Amino acid sequence: MYRTDRQFAREMDAQDGLAAYRQQFHCPRGTDGRPVIYLCGNSLGLQPIGVRQAVLDELDKWADFGVEGHFARPYPWYSYHEHLCAAAAAIVGALEHEVVAMNSLTTNLHLMMVSFYRPTATRYKILIEATAFPSDQYAVASQAKFHGFDPKDAVVVLSPRDGESTLRTEDIEAYLDVHGQEVALVMFGGVNYYTGQAFDMASITAAGHRNGCIVGFDLAHAAGNLMLELHDWGVDFAVWCSYKYLNAGPGGVGGCFVHDRHAAAVDLPRFAGWWGTDPATRFQMDPAFVPQHGAEGWQLSNAMILPMAALRASLELFEAAGMPALRQKALALTEYLLFLIDQIPSESFEIITPREPAARGCQISIRALSNGRALFERLEQGGVVCDFREPDVIRVAPVPLYNSFEDVWSFWSILKESVSS
Ligand SMILES: *Cc1c(COP(=O)(O)O)cnc(C)c1O
Repeated sequence: MYRTDRQFAREMDAQDGLAAYRQQFHCPRGTDGRPVIYLCGNSLGLQPIGVRQAVLDELDKWADFGVEGHFARPYPWYSYHEHLCAAAAAIVGALEHEVVAMNSLTTNLHLMMVSFYRPTATRYKILIEATAFPSDQYAVASQAKFHGFDPKDAVVVLSPRDGESTLRTEDIEAYLDVHGQEVALVMFGGVNYYTGQAFDMASITAAGHRNGCIVGFDLAHAAGNLMLELHDWGVDFAVWCSYKYLNAGPGGVGGCFVHDRHAAAVDLPRFAGWWGTDPATRFQMDPAFVPQHGAEGWQLSNAMILPMAALRASLELFEAAGMPALRQKALALTEYLLFLIDQIPSESFEIITPREPAARGCQISIRALSNGRALFERLEQGGVVCDFREPDVIRVAPVPLYNSFEDVWSFWSILKESVSS
């Protein structure tokens, strides 16, 4: 049903109910003055038009009201983070009190592990996937070390079978069913940043839980990309950043999910700060820390207003478009991309992202079998913005809020030329 001509891509765009959202974003231009083919929203999402005004509003509030800005409407700073919960909860499939926007991703990962990595002499291992993002590898290794364990022993890295690029769910489950009694924490990505594999989080959570493990996910590449049901899957905790698919800008504020079953666990060890205490008594400056119910009880500091303003503006687009429609378009874009790439004789590269729809998000990872860097540079010269990850992977991510089918076609025609030249 697909065709390889440009006209076909234009027809797809004409039928796309989300096509108008492209106008809500700034797209960088190349040296020729034309918009680039931006396929890098998995690394840094484009800037929504509304972000600038949202940030300016807070700068104006600061200029006009000074400290009184904490109480100035419509979004008083003292409760600013509360306005982000509903939209964030919808994106990750959570109850509102299960999510909070705070800090940055790796910081949140550490805060979560302080509470949820509780090793004992016999159950102390952390299970992560191979090619986990380096920051996550450092975080889990340093947590193991912090508790007096040798990371070489305590951190178990699960690799794909020989000759395969991605993990099979059955192998993750089998590992847990055999060795799960030693595992304190299963800490996986929702989507692996390198291969683009979307993990079966429901099955991994169930396998972890039936073997007595705590299960957490890093959703850096999953939030705003996949349909997530963190509450229903029973995930213990999750963390994410907002500058990738969530388009909240460089260094944007991170997110955190804590399952309702832990919402009232006031005895859980945690690093505490005044913003995590019950707001009813927060300003009584009482030295007794009473953690707030739910994820907000893990906050440390008062809200980061400027990045949160950007996030608020960005989340409005997700609320308007809705994750189900976005996910549907993402699958259509990647299916089309896979079809097109399959038309190119492939001695020079292979696709390592799984082809089953449920096992991929927006990103397709192309492994160059030789001269990957040179191929990547040719794509760049052709006006494509994507990225290269050592040693040999080119990542491209058409995202449904602002990429079109014609973007996918344009990328493909440049890839085709680059491969044959
Ligand atoms: C992008 C990304 C990070 C980055 O961490 P920051 O703390 O936001 O700098 C960490 N982990 C994963 C899996 C990522 O994809």
